[in-house]
Amino acid sequence: MHQDAHSAPLPLTLITGASRGMGEAMALQCLDAGHAVVGISRQRSAKLDAHPPAAGAWLQQWQHDLSDPAAAGWALLEWLQAQPAGRYRSVSLINNAGLIAPLMPLAEIDPADTARALRVGLEAAMVLTGLFLRGTAGWTVPRKVLNVSSGLGRRAMAGSASYCAAKAGMDHFTRAVALEEASQPNGARLVSLAPGVIATDMQVQLRGADPLLFPDRGNFIALHEQGQLQSPEAAAARVLACLARPDFGQTVVADVREL
Ligand code: NAP
Repeated sequence: MHQDAHSAPLPLTLITGASRGMGEAMALQCLDAGHAVVGISRQRSAKLDAHPPAAGAWLQQWQHDLSDPAAAGWALLEWLQAQPAGRYRSVSLINNAGLIAPLMPLAEIDPADTARALRVGLEAAMVLTGLFLRGTAGWTVPRKVLNVSSGLGRRAMAGSASYCAAKAGMDHFTRAVALEEASQPNGARLVSLAPGVIATDMQVQLRGADPLLFPDRGNFIALHEQGQLQSPEAAAARVLACLARPDFGQTVVADVREL
């Protein structure tokens, strides 16, 4: 970590799932843009560790398994409460970590896989959002939560019920918390954002599924063959551009393809 307590206030951006894929790309771009970045994942990203931050920027990587999110949540609360006033000029939480359980009908799936997908994809986002809001409640700077959702929270797909449910739950808890925050002084602004289709490990998993258990596999192969996947870097830039918009929070459930 490189941190200078006497430097000018900088944006603080907390990103779950920053060890690879779009989360890692967002963390790299935030470091380039001069943010203080806290990544939360099971693994560390060597690429992030090796990346020279812009002047004043710094990085912490916290290792937590978000399938048991309370520990990460309490650590986040304690850390936020220990931050000196005036160190940051904005504070944002990006709930980006997510996973797809093995692609197969719910009737076939191991209940432990269903639980893990819901806990990482939905419960962790709710726990971290709640404790982030509690930990920054007295802060006078802009406070934002960006939940990384999916078109599959709004359109069902066979073989991925837990993923669809986690993302639909994410959209709807974001709506409910946005109502709660709207009545608070300096209430946080929240958005649940579908980021489009991205060339990451998740797409490799979708293309590698058993077509007998996952009928949509061919569609994901076609998207790949037709060059329709965004790079993680391009997707990250679009999500961060949404976070930076002056009207962030006005549309609570959004899709980058419609912004
Ligand atoms: P990815 O490459 O599979 O990366 C997933 C990230 O989540 C990793 O950093 C991983 O870190 C973290 N994660 C997974 N399980 C975790 C756990 N138990 N505890 C802590 N962290 C965990 O995914 P991605 O494609 O970049 O997706 C990022 C977000 O975009 C997800 O919310 C996904 O649902 C959404 N999305 C993706 C697409 C797409 O086409 N790829 C489309 C729509 C929405 P560790 O393994 O180190 O823990």
